[in-house]
Amino acid sequence: MVLAQLGGSISRALQQMSNATIIDEKVLNDCLNEITRALLQSDVQFKLVRDMQTNIKKIVNLDDLAAGHNKRKIIQQAVFNELCKILDPGKPAFTPKKGKTSVVMFVGLQGSGKTTTCTKYAYYHQKKGYKPALVCADTFRAGAFDQLKQNATKAKIPFYGSYTESDPVRIAVEGVERFKKENCDLIIVDTSGRHKQEAALFEEMRQVSEATKPDLVLFVMDSSIGQAAFDQAQAFKQSVPVGAVIVTKMDGHAKGGGALSAVAATKSPVIFIGTGEHMDEFEIFDVKPFVSRLLG
Ligand code: GDP
Repeated sequence: MVLAQLGGSISRALQQMSNATIIDEKVLNDCLNEITRALLQSDVQFKLVRDMQTNIKKIVNLDDLAAGHNKRKIIQQAVFNELCKILDPGKPAFTPKKGKTSVVMFVGLQGSGKTTTCTKYAYYHQKKGYKPALVCADTFRAGAFDQLKQNATKAKIPFYGSYTESDPVRIAVEGVERFKKENCDLIIVDTSGRHKQEAALFEEMRQVSEATKPDLVLFVMDSSIGQAAFDQAQAFKQSVPVGAVIVTKMDGHAKGGGALSAVAATKSPVIFIGTGEHMDEFEIFDVKPFVSRLLG
């Protein structure tokens, strides 16, 4: 897996530095450059990596390193802390409470895994004793409602949508109202995506968000979009109040770096990752284990 390769490169860079007899600025710079290269290859945004490098240089004291302290450990700890800092925006995401209605709106580009992730999120909470429901407010993509219906039926989760209504705002509002009446405590609204970040997509999202007043807007991002992650996440955040991120397709060729960019761009935490096409291939995202894995 790519994350493991990244961990390997960083560990190697740290090991090489540890092996050096004298730790001077050059040895430290070489090590940091190596780490930078590994992070960039893993799609961490250039600016984040550069800032991280500057911070580490400020934190790591060359005199301490020269005095025979465990150099590898000092730098590794600094890299670990910096990566954790990027991934932790400092405020936890909204969490739905059982027995109290919450509306969660999903946004993301077409193909990001949004519809699949809506069901995974609903299914995850259903297993924890919530009463979730799914609303398909995607009237743009033909087949979106059928897909959600199929997923929802499989997971035995109530759903709402229409084959004829073309106004996504209307469907969203109707769906939310219906499930509020049915005492569902987690109403999930799947919105439309587009292939590109287009004005029409953002306007539609904004309208759905204003009409349904979600407690949480969840931005779904495909981990394989690489360096585009930052700009994409930022564009969504500028249109709707994104409060948390889910990174999909972390299986396969996933590069973990996009997660760091999405957090930095939205100032919201990653709360789950998608690790496959199946309903239960969905994991809670924890910063420290993720970074530990990243570092190998
Ligand atoms: P949407 O257009 O954003 O609603 O995307 P879909 O939910 O239709 O997903 C697009 C494709 O990605 C489908 O083939 C999904 O099965 C697949 N997919 C979604 N999440 C994951 C994931 O975490 N891992 C993998 N491997 N595939 C996923």
